[in-house]
Amino acid sequence: MPKFAIGVDLGGTNLRIAAVDDSGKLLQKLTLGTEVKRGRDHVIQEMCAAIEQLLAKFTSAGEMCGIGIGVPGFIDMASGMVMRSPNLADWTNFPVREVIEKRLGTHVILENDANVAAMGEKWLGAGREVEHMAMYTLGTGVGGGIILNGRLWHGMTGMAGELGHFNIFPDGHPCGCGSRGCLEQYASATAVVRMAREAIESKQASEELTQLMPDPVQFTARSIYNLTVQGDVSAKKIFETVGRALAIGIGGMVNALNLPMYVIGGGVSSAWNAFSHAMFEEMKFRSSIYSLTSPDLKEHKKSTLVTPALLGSDAGLYGAARLPMLEDFTQMEKTRTRA
Ligand SMILES: [Zn+2]
Repeated sequence: MPKFAIGVDLGGTNLRIAAVDDSGKLLQKLTLGTEVKRGRDHVIQEMCAAIEQLLAKFTSAGEMCGIGIGVPGFIDMASGMVMRSPNLADWTNFPVREVIEKRLGTHVILENDANVAAMGEKWLGAGREVEHMAMYTLGTGVGGGIILNGRLWHGMTGMAGELGHFNIFPDGHPCGCGSRGCLEQYASATAVVRMAREAIESKQASEELTQLMPDPVQFTARSIYNLTVQGDVSAKKIFETVGRALAIGIGGMVNALNLPMYVIGGGVSSAWNAFSHAMFEEMKFRSSIYSLTSPDLKEHKKSTLVTPALLGSDAGLYGAARLPMLEDFTQMEKTRTRA
């Protein structure tokens, strides 16, 4: 009998829920407007109703492994609680996992959204062939996930993999985490728009770039990227900064962990052509391990690959569904009892 699991991707704008079987086949996907502003109980209610709908449909077709939920924010794995989340303020210190498990009567794994995206890419995307990888998700912020021996690396409490808060410029732009100059401040969609605004305000921007600013609908990372395609030098410079910042962050990871693969996903990764050249050049400078293992050196069988993600916005959904398939819940219950 085939196995299947339910994956949930709770984003800032969408709540997406999918039933996926253990071969990676998507059985069904539901997309709901979360209306996060209506509060935690409303979101949990909608999420559980949709999960029940999928469970009713697929339970007779195979063995249900459990439910994986990707949530933006810091997760405490032992308690199954959201410790801090910019988008889900009223979720903090609330026993999310316990409440959902009680309601649905099945195992639930709560996981950081960037971690589930990393797991999705490991399972079915760019990382299929490797056992160790790190993933960077360049969206509104920059998320990260580390996979070692095919499993997510959680660290002591479950908060490992915050690669977006690697320090890039010690006295750089203030970051929401309280520090300054984090990778997120130079490689997210928000950062691209901010850097464009800074260029415009300091009269460093082209006329075309300057013209985008008055209309907030037009003034986006995507339209700034579109200008690079047209050869706009000031827009190109912004994405070169993205590339250099990524190189400093990834270079640090290469030096620390010497992983075979670093996957770059999220919306900004579609600007790969605009930032990757600067990124690869800078990486050789920032990481001697990278320069010694670069794929350019064809004599090596083992090289360090930095590569775009393959699954797009579905990575988190697949990764969330994968988690309960990998888990030994009997063992997990023992750990929870001890915790
Ligand atoms: Zn930060």
